[in-house]
Amino acid sequence: NLDFHASGRHFLQIPGPSPVPDRILRAMSLPTIDHRGPEFGALGRELLSKVRQVFKTEGPVVIYPASGTGAWEAALTNTLSPGDQVLMYETGHFATLWQKMARRLGLEPEFLSLPGDEGWRLGVQAEMIEARLKEDREHAIKAVCVVHNETSTGVTSDIAAVRRAIDAAGHPALLMVDTISGLASADYRHDEWGVDVTISGSQKGLMLPPGISFNAVSDKALSASRQAKLPKSFWAWDEIVEANKTGYWPYTPNTNLLYGLNEALDMLLGEGLDHVFARHQRWAAGVRTAVEAWGLEIQCRDPKVYSPVLTGVIMPEGVDADEVRRLIYERFDLSLGMGLGKAKGRMFRIGHLGDCNDLTLIATLGGCEAGMKLTGVPLKGSGVLAALEYFANHPLDTDR
Ligand code: PLP
Repeated sequence: NLDFHASGRHFLQIPGPSPVPDRILRAMSLPTIDHRGPEFGALGRELLSKVRQVFKTEGPVVIYPASGTGAWEAALTNTLSPGDQVLMYETGHFATLWQKMARRLGLEPEFLSLPGDEGWRLGVQAEMIEARLKEDREHAIKAVCVVHNETSTGVTSDIAAVRRAIDAAGHPALLMVDTISGLASADYRHDEWGVDVTISGSQKGLMLPPGISFNAVSDKALSASRQAKLPKSFWAWDEIVEANKTGYWPYTPNTNLLYGLNEALDMLLGEGLDHVFARHQRWAAGVRTAVEAWGLEIQCRDPKVYSPVLTGVIMPEGVDADEVRRLIYERFDLSLGMGLGKAKGRMFRIGHLGDCNDLTLIATLGGCEAGMKLTGVPLKGSGVLAALEYFANHPLDTDR
């Protein structure tokens, strides 16, 4: 019944899109302005300079009016030529989709994988990348592509280790990193980690609606784009980077989402990125404490790479995770992430990113706990009480 009005606020606890703060909604509600006028140019220059601070880069950050998938395509088509070999790594569903895209674009992706579902439970094994690059004496591999925060599993890979692996092999391949769901929630350093193209999106840590996405671009990637032969036009960096120098775009940008981005950048940079990251780490630890108290298993098996963005909760044998999620949605107006690809029906994902607080997460855990009880999932104890205790005993430095 479409006329039915559920009272109270919906709990959007999927790992993106994440809840959009009122302050950003208000910023986006202002009238759309002339994208070639002086007011727009000033906005463009301001936000293009601020956005670099979030990627931690001195170089250009290209913004597309597209979802993250578009920015994936932009990264590949700007830098590569038909038939180029690319080394990709199976961390989960999103890495798999990016690999499929590379094949569809006429590239030759090689997909490094661990046996069974191991790769979906651990981060990127950088030594596998190093070993493969060392074998490639002809330097046929043109790019290494990895997902930083794998949204389908809740594993955040060590990108600095991937950089070290490429350097240890003495290999010139470009390093491309998808941090669509990691940026502005998990620590990320484009320049320091020697990343050539960083791909991100608006609807996760940046707390915006879906609709804009990003490529942060190194000098080496810009040079590669001048030789690369895959067809590109809408995605081509050169015209955008040129127009961006004065704060404009070569086509109509997503004006109102850019208002929102400017506001989000003020919020994130005003708070300080380190504080933003600490807040996410603490929420993630509280949620894991709850999962442990329930006696359930977390999808990520290596504590060094637990995601600060989301936690994958594995259901016991014989329980359909999608049924549990459906009941939780219908009964408690709470959206949780579904198991994707190989993990379909086996787990649900709790998003703890963006505009949350302790009590949003306690309510979320309450919905999970009640829903699991109602569907007969055997629980060892109360996750809600365990998380409350965790949050009470682990204040942030800014908590009074
Ligand atoms: N990569 C990752 C890690 C993601 O989480 C997503 C979306 O959730 C994508 C790529 C695809 O982005 P989009 O759905 O915005 O096109």
